[in-house]
Parts: sequence; structure tokens; C-alpha cells
Amino acid sequence: MTDHVGNVAFIGLGAMGYAMAKNIRQKMAPTGTLYVFDVFRGACERFQDEFKDFGPIVIVDSPKEAASMSQTIISIVPGASEVRDVYMNEVMGIIAIPKNVDRLIMECSTIDSQSSREVGEALKNAGVGTYIDTPVSGGVPGADAGTLSFLMGHTKPSDTDPVSHRLETVAAMMGDPKKFFYCGKLGAGLAAKISNNYLSCSILLAVAEAMAIGIRSGVDEKLLHEVIQNSTGQNFMADKVQPVPGVVPDAPSSHNYRLGFKTQMMIKDLGLGVDAGYATGIKPTMAEAAYRVYEKAAVDPKCIVSEAPSPVGDRDGSSVYLHITATPEEDQK
Ligand code: NAD
Repeated sequence: MTDHVGNVAFIGLGAMGYAMAKNIRQKMAPTGTLYVFDVFRGACERFQDEFKDFGPIVIVDSPKEAASMSQTIISIVPGASEVRDVYMNEVMGIIAIPKNVDRLIMECSTIDSQSSREVGEALKNAGVGTYIDTPVSGGVPGADAGTLSFLMGHTKPSDTDPVSHRLETVAAMMGDPKKFFYCGKLGAGLAAKISNNYLSCSILLAVAEAMAIGIRSGVDEKLLHEVIQNSTGQNFMADKVQPVPGVVPDAPSSHNYRLGFKTQMMIKDLGLGVDAGYATGIKPTMAEAAYRVYEKAAVDPKCIVSEAPSPVGDRDGSSVYLHITATPEEDQK
């Protein structure tokens, strides 16, 4: 199954990428080499140290170096400007590697569809491979378990499109094929992802507010969650990313808001939702309101952890609960 995957380049070993690359190293052929690059070299060193027993892992100095030796490229970095750095830099970027139209390029970051189309077209014109927007859903736990959803800006696998079979094979090393969605064309996977995150980020704030109101009105927090879980307000964010500590044992809040999805990422994704709303003529009322709250939470010391588990050092975005419960109503405006 794995022979046509070849050597793999993995770029971006952050919260998501580290766990996704772990699954790639464990499931690709042990004879294949995994080339890793991250601007934070310490992440590559930790990764190499932890997973070297599964097969060769080589740390390189640029995306270009990683990609030029690989048949398959996977990247997951914070936003569109980092994606452009990785792919479009004429000296260190992937656009500068030797031509190979059979190369599969899976770009998993959550960025705007337009940037993805521009980068994908440029790489196609340069003949360096097939670039596909493949944003993921499922968070760090899904990345770790290899059960991510993949929303792909490509058509379903077919025998007339050999890259599509490799796309499915590689995605299946990191995700659950039951949750693979082929959205048709370049940029469409991201369009779907942006709509999903419009909801998940907005709903998380709604959960934090609803829980805070219920608790202050005298309802026990665990009972309140149980009520919501069995009523019309039931939702994934309340059940899995519950912002009130001690209510859902596995939620980040029950572990000192350990990092899953940073507040900065919430702002980025809500911003993408707002822009997509205006671009399509739909007023993004909910995302705009949520954006304003997360923007303040992102600079609230209560939402920033000092003993940082990552170089950036943020707490999980569900720590917005600490912000809204400790900030006087007047100051929340
Ligand atoms: P992160 O900040 O933890 O990781 C990003 C990594 O990219 C870091 O290790 C950073 O050093 C590296 N990086 C930055 N610029 C780079 C560059 N130019 N070249 C190489 N490496 C570079 O972020 P994350 O939580 O892993 O998220 C990454 C992407 O995945 C984002 O677009 C995010 O929206 C998306 N995403 C995150 C989650 C989640 O739950 N964390 C879920 C789905 C999608």
C-alpha cells in the first residue's frame, strides 16, 4: 500500500503537524525517508528523537530541501503568509524545486481559498506537482489518533487521476476515510472548512456564555451540561471542548486549558469567516461579534499560560470562559 507514497516532506511540526507527522512516520514504509522542516528547529529535534525508531527522519534547513527529495509533500503552518513563505519563496520555497508533475502536495493549513488557488496555480505552472487544499478537522486529539476529517479541494479518487489515489492513501495515514470529503476543485476544501469554523468558533463562545449565565443563576455546572447535552442546545463544543473546568474530564479546560486550538487561531478563522461572508454577500453577524470577544481574550493575561507548552505559550481558546467571567460587563463591550 505504501510504496507509491515514496519519501515524504513534512513542513510545520506545531500542535497539529507534530501529531500528523507522527502518524505518517509510523505508517509510511520504514524504508522511506521523512524530511521535516519547521522554523522552530527544536520541534524537529524533539520529533526526530521521539520517532526515529520507525524509520529515517532527516531534519532539513528549508521547505525546498525537504520537497526536492520527496514524492509527497504535506504542510500545516499557521496562516496564508506562512504558506506563501513555504511555497512561493524563490530561494528557499517549494516553487524552486525540480519539476515533477507526479508529486502530491497536500496543504492542510486553514487559510483563505483565494491564496490557496494562487499558490496552487503557480506551482502547477512551475510543473512541481499537484497542489491540493486539504484542511483538516478534529483538533489535536484527532491528529494524534489519526482520525482527522479531510476536506479536499479535489475530485474523488479515479483511475484516470493517479495522484488522487495517493491523496487518499496519504490522508488515510492521518485521518478516517469515512470523514473524507472531496469538494471538487482547488480552494473548495477551504471554503467548506471556513464555514465549519465560522460555526465552531462562534458556538464555543455561545457555550461559554450560556454556561456562565446558568451557573451564576444557581444551576450546578455538571447538571447544566447534562441538561444541554440532552436538549436542543446539544453541540460538539459543549461536549468535547467544554470551557468550564471539571465538567468534561478530557476537555482542555479540565487540564489548565492546555493547548488545543489557540485564541489567535480562533481570531484568524473567524476573520476568514467574516471575509468570506462579505465576499459572498452574507452579513457575518455572529462571527463579527465573536471576533471582538476573542480579540480581547487573546490579550487577557488570564488566557495566557506562563509555563508554555509551545513556543507561543497560549492557553486553549476555550479559556475565553475565564475572560468573560472575570471581566466586568462594561469592559466586555
Ligand atoms: P501551531 O502554531 O501549533 O503550529 C504551526 C507550526 O508551524 C509551528 O511549529 C511553527 O513554528 C511552524 N511554522 C510557522 N511558520 C513556518 C514556516 N514559514 N515554515 C515552516 N514552519 C513554520 O498551529 P496549529 O495549531 O498546529 O495549526 C496549524 C494550522 O492548522 C492552522 O492553519 C490552524 O488553523 C489549522 N488547524 C488547527 C487545528 C487545531 O486544533 N490546532 C485544527 C484544525 C486546523
